[in-house]
Formats: sequence, structure tokens, C-alpha cells
Amino acid sequence: MDKNLELLEKFESLSEEFETYQNFAESTIQIMSEKNTKLEKRLDNLTNIVEISKYINSNISDTNLISMINDMIIGISGVTYSSIYLFEFDKLVVKATNSYEVDLNLKFKDHFVQLDEGKLFVINSKDFVEEDLIKDKIHSIIGIPINLRDKFTGYIIVEHTLWNFFSQEHINFISSIANQIAIAIENSLLYAKVKESSVRDPLLGIYNRKYFFDTIEDKLSRNAFIEFAIVMMDIDDFKKVNDVYGHQVGDEILLCVTDTINENLQKEDIVARYGGEEIVIYIHEVKDYNVVYDRIDNIRKQITSTISKSKNLKNSITASFGISYYRGNKNVDKVLKTADIMLYKAKSRGKNRVISE
Ligand code: GH3
Ligand code: MG
Ligand code: MG
Repeated sequence: MDKNLELLEKFESLSEEFETYQNFAESTIQIMSEKNTKLEKRLDNLTNIVEISKYINSNISDTNLISMINDMIIGISGVTYSSIYLFEFDKLVVKATNSYEVDLNLKFKDHFVQLDEGKLFVINSKDFVEEDLIKDKIHSIIGIPINLRDKFTGYIIVEHTLWNFFSQEHINFISSIANQIAIAIENSLLYAKVKESSVRDPLLGIYNRKYFFDTIEDKLSRNAFIEFAIVMMDIDDFKKVNDVYGHQVGDEILLCVTDTINENLQKEDIVARYGGEEIVIYIHEVKDYNVVYDRIDNIRKQITSTISKSKNLKNSITASFGISYYRGNKNVDKVLKTADIMLYKAKSRGKNRVISE
């Protein structure tokens, strides 16, 4: 009998112990599975961010890049509306959106959001007034600032119809995309800079000859009947100038000559460095040869009268010019050759003059 009681007690204590272990195991499994789901979600987000980053880096020069990133935000995070705003002349301008309301003042009419401070903001359901809920059925909004090297550059604003939709995970995800956008903007600015510097002369800042002729060919491919002039200019006795005043002063004089030409050009004219101290000019839409001649002779006069004075030089600085015209029956090479022959004539007839074909 005692033996039975003893066994029963042992059984009860064991089963109690078993239950404790079972509860413990179950709750551990639940915790592990929650952790697993969270990790999977994080991995998913990370994969998405890596994919977006790869995409951005391979499409730096694409003008639709910001729109594509906005579409990705909508696709991946499942928000109702997503908009990307960037600063342009101190104003936030919408660059991509799928929302019909792009005016930020109207969007946040009833919410106190100071967009110009560049702070992250979350407006979840409780902050919505009745009228908003009926009007566009948006119940949650977050705004993530885009910062380019600590400089506030824009906002990603995402909206959802669900109540209290946005969590810390959404904030983290959109923030990573904001960083990617900042990198994309910086890259595209760099790309534009490199592209711009590849067509310009580093000393004079004007276009190089390749860009000059490519642009003319491009114009001609669109309209073969345009009439234009090509002017070749070469500074007179520049070797002597370098010998007397040194190469650096020579460079400064070359820059002054370039400035004088630039100041006298019209919007569609193009000036480029042909090589050395030779500059080539494209004069757009020629109607009257005398007008072109007078404009160029005026540049010549200005060079003669101003540069040596402003640089305090004893020797006068002068330049010679040759003008030739394109009339649809020649090729650009021939026009250039004729301008060069005219320049040579100007030199052989005593320099400091303009000769037109
Ligand atoms: P001409 O009146 O016949 O043109 O005589 P010139 O001495 O100017 O002869 P030319 O045009 O053949 O020589 C150009 C000289 O300009 C040669 C070179 O030393 C100088 N030069 C070319 N490019 C530069 C430059 O970027 N800076 C400076 N300082 N000198 C340059
Ligand atoms: Mg010269
Ligand atoms: Mg020369």
C-alpha cells in the first residue's frame, strides 16, 4: 500500500515536471519562430535594398531613375501612395508620385508638419481629422528626409489607407531607400560634371573642338539648310608675348581674349578652343554678311583697345580673324579650311584685321 502511494506521488511529480518542460518547450518554439519570421522579414528587406542599390548604380544616367525608385517603394512596401520630393531653388518639388495630391501644403493642411526642417515624421490614424478620412481614405503617413552628406535635400512621403499601418520596420526600410536616393543624386551630379568637363577646355572653360564640330554636325543632321558662319581667330605674335611676359601672363591674356569673345556672342553661337591660342566661333543663322563682319571686327577692336591696358603691358595685344560661310552646298571641313585661308590672309596682310571670304 505504501509502495502504491509512493509510486503515485512520483507519477504526479513527474507529470508536473513534464508539463512545465512542455510549456517551456512550446513557448521557446513560439519565440524562436517569431524571431525566425522577423529575421526572414529583415532578410527580405535587406535583399530588396541590395537589389535597389544595384539597380540605382547601373542606371545612374537614367533620367527616369527617381520614378523607378518610387515605383519600387510602392511595389515592395505595399503603400497606397509614394512621392519623392527634391529641393529645387529652395522649394520642395515633386519628382515622382502616384498620388493625385502633390501640393504639400494641401496634403498636410490639417497636420502640423514642418517640412523645411527636414525631420522624420510619422502620422498614424489618431492624428487624422474626420474630414481627411472621408476625403482620401488615407490613415497613415510617414515622411523620411533625404540627406545628401548631411544636407537636407528632399523627402520620401508614403501614405496608406490602413489604420496605424507604419511600424519601425517601414521607417527603417524607407530610410535605407532615402540613403540610396541620396547616393543616386550624388552619382548623377558627378556623372553630369564628368560629362561636362569632357567637352570643355580646362584652361579656358570654353568647349573643345570635338564638341564644337559634333554639335555643328548634329545641327546639320536635323536641318541641312541652315546658314552659319565659322570664324577662326589666332592671337598675333603670341610667341613674343610669352617670351616677354612669361607663359603664365600668356595664359591670362588668352583668358581675357576668350572673355572678350564670349561677351560678344549671342545665345545660339558657340565658341571653342581649336588648339593653342586659336579659337573657333560658330555664328548662328547668318542673314547678312556685313552684320557678321561688323560683329567680329568689333571683337577685334575690343581686344586691341582693352587687354594690354588692363594688364599694364607695353606691347599691344591684337588678334587676326578669318570668316567663312556655310550655305548648304559645302561640307563643314571646307568651311573651316576657307576660314583658315582667310585667317592666313589676315596675317599676311599685316595682322590685327578681319578677312571674310
Ligand atoms: P602669329 O602672329 O603668326 O600667329 O605669331 P605667333 O607667335 O602667335 O605664332 P603662332 O600662332 O604659330 O604661335 C602660337 C604660340 O602660342 C606658340 C605657343 O607658345 C603659344 N601658346 C599656345 N597655346 C598657349 C597657351 O595655352 N598658353 C600660352 N601661354 N601660350 C600658348
Ligand atoms: Mg598666333
Ligand atoms: Mg597659332
